[in-house]
Amino acid sequence: MERSDSGDPRGRERRLPFLRTTPVCQAWVSAAVLAALLVPLLLDHEVGNGHTRYELLTVAVIIAMSVLNVEIGRLLEGGAADGQRPHKALSTWSFACALVLSIGWLVPVVAISYAHARWRGMRVPLWKWVGSAAYIVLAGVAAAAVVQSVLGDQTSIVYGDGLRGLAAVLAGAGTFLAVETLLFHGSAYLNTADDEHWLRQTLARPSFYVTELGVLLVGGLSAAVWTAGAWFLALLLPVFVLAQRAVLHEPLRERADHDDKTGLLRFGSWHRLARVASSRCRQRGEAWSVLFVDLDHFKRFNDTWGHLAGDLALVTVADAIRGEVRKDDLVARFGGEEFCVLLPRADAAEALGIAERIRVAIGAADLPGEQSVTASLGVSSTGPGERSVDVDVALLAADRALYDAKQAGRDRTCARPPAPPVPQQPRAS
Ligand code: GH3
Ligand code: MG
Ligand code: MG
Repeated sequence: MERSDSGDPRGRERRLPFLRTTPVCQAWVSAAVLAALLVPLLLDHEVGNGHTRYELLTVAVIIAMSVLNVEIGRLLEGGAADGQRPHKALSTWSFACALVLSIGWLVPVVAISYAHARWRGMRVPLWKWVGSAAYIVLAGVAAAAVVQSVLGDQTSIVYGDGLRGLAAVLAGAGTFLAVETLLFHGSAYLNTADDEHWLRQTLARPSFYVTELGVLLVGGLSAAVWTAGAWFLALLLPVFVLAQRAVLHEPLRERADHDDKTGLLRFGSWHRLARVASSRCRQRGEAWSVLFVDLDHFKRFNDTWGHLAGDLALVTVADAIRGEVRKDDLVARFGGEEFCVLLPRADAAEALGIAERIRVAIGAADLPGEQSVTASLGVSSTGPGERSVDVDVALLAADRALYDAKQAGRDRTCARPPAPPVPQQPRAS
């Protein structure tokens, strides 16, 4: 049946990515946006801290600090911002806003900070941008309410020896983190895995929460400094630069450790981690194994289907390998169309079983143009209590086993025990 583009739901979904999300995710985000618009408006006079005489000046300074923070981040990254990453500056200054202003200000402050961050490289679909801003506003409202109840009749976080203010800031930061975590988890797990791969990975890392708490406490410190003696805020600038560097460190390291094309570990990082994991097995008297995987006639695949199809095939193969190993197995792209895997605690029989599963999964993977590709695998295993074999020796033996598999006709797995390296003749291709 022919349909015009305007009547085609697929066409609408292409234009409005929000419609591609699940209905329950749509309901979650819509409810959060509605609450973020209404709650600060309705409770502005009930909840909020400060009501300072210099409200407008405070708002301008908070927005200026947020803008400065994003700009410092861009400078530190050399303009190569990773658009998926939420800008940490935004939670810092939203939390500061919740500490020193009435909650009605959260909506304009967050909206302007988010608009600036989007203009300067926050490349996420509009609905995610609006949803994130709403979550931050709601986290700010909850934090402000908790801060207010801890402060009691004390009107600012800086009062007396500051102990009650400190308790209020810590309780507020904890609340902010808890509420934003809950709301972002909602988005990540009510939407499809495909669309939220990055967010799910981020939320699964404990380091995310440590960094986020640190970022919020920088906001708490800034609010205290601003309340106690506004000019001292200037002294905090180097702290922001350091905080921004700390925030950047993790994604940059992540990028350095992983292959851009497949997302697997790069060989250098794999080697470092594999040495640690294998020596742990050695110390505990456990077996461990290494696999080497090489795609068969991949040059022919490229020659026939083109290198872009070849690249897609490499991504699919990487996913197939990942799908057949356990969480603490280490998978790397060795280079080109070759992969290596370290299997801690897997003896020869288990490693052969896993290798065969990987071979079958690669052969069955859906490749562009309904093509398929096969792989040859080499396995080398060390038994429990084996102390003299290291990763390089095992890798060499797995590589030679792989050569056996190629010689024997490809699309198969061969094994060799690890043996001390002996001088080798160059291979015939
Ligand atoms: P064999 O069964 O003996 O392994 O044959 P082969 O063709 O797979 O082996 P060969 O080493 O001759 O070729 C490897 C090919 O892998 C050549 C190269 O075009 C392709 N290749 C390596 N890296 C990439 C990549 O990143 N993308 C694509 N598309 N192809 C790659
Ligand atoms: Mg090869
Ligand atoms: Mg090959």
